[in-house]
Amino acid sequence: MTGLMAGKRGLIMGVANDHSIAWGIAKTLHEHGAELAFTYQGEALGRRVGPLAARLGSDSVFPCDVENLASVDALFAGLDERFGGELDFVVHAIGFSDKAQLKGRYVDVTTRENFSRTLTISCFSFTEIAQRAAKRMVNGGSLLTLTYGGSTRVMPNYNVMGVAKAALEASVRYLAADLGPAGIRVNALSAGPMRTLAGAGIADARLMFNHQKAHAPLRRTVTLEDVGGSALYLLSSLSGGVTGEIHFVDSGYNIISMPRPDVLQA
Ligand code: NAD
Repeated sequence: MTGLMAGKRGLIMGVANDHSIAWGIAKTLHEHGAELAFTYQGEALGRRVGPLAARLGSDSVFPCDVENLASVDALFAGLDERFGGELDFVVHAIGFSDKAQLKGRYVDVTTRENFSRTLTISCFSFTEIAQRAAKRMVNGGSLLTLTYGGSTRVMPNYNVMGVAKAALEASVRYLAADLGPAGIRVNALSAGPMRTLAGAGIADARLMFNHQKAHAPLRRTVTLEDVGGSALYLLSSLSGGVTGEIHFVDSGYNIISMPRPDVLQA
């Protein structure tokens, strides 16, 4: 343990189980000395998140459904009791869209209702959390969200989630500009495809996973430890001069413009 996060108190949002990206990040931050609070969405997930938090020495576990603003405010009231009104970092690893619309052509399947819901949960919630967290980051801080390369390039079936991630990445830049003078940094990790609950909701997820493995420069998909390490960098003083960044953790897949000819011809 290097203690890079020693004395830092932070909020982890988005653990559903031990495959969640938020869980991978939490483990790494804990190894480096951070004190963590967790949220869960709904009682069923709460029964899983409580024991996971306990494994990292935390009993600060709060319900929070970001669609419900009262529940967001209740979360921060609870956090204030635990952390005395101060906070050093937040990990926002939350995304949702109707599974039925993560399949087929964007132009055909997308409805107004699900578009709004997807953007509210997967994008605007980050701004609502940032508004509340920033008030408590009296000594500066770091906010981190999770995005995917489907924001800037078309991935089959990613559809409205791609639109939400594009808006989320723009939010990162606007929030970074607004909060920078207070010493608060705002960044996103753009992870390659991972086998999680949310990842499994996208049609042909296995195909995307295998495509990345075959064509990414590192010839593999990324692990929870990969994402945890990059999150540690962005949340700690190691990245003290970095804000407004979209940092890829995708085995280099984003630099590729054409699949490998040897694989295509095989
Ligand atoms: P996951 O299913 O483990 O986590 C998604 C989390 O979002 C869950 O904990 C769920 O409870 C939470 N959530 C959904 N709606 C919510 C709401 N209304 N209120 C509060 N929480 C809510 O999957 P994951 O892959 O770890 O997803 C975490 C983040 O990483 C998401 O933003 C996802 O888009 C992003 N991401 C995932 C991948 C991938 O391939 N899995 C790649 C890049 C980015």
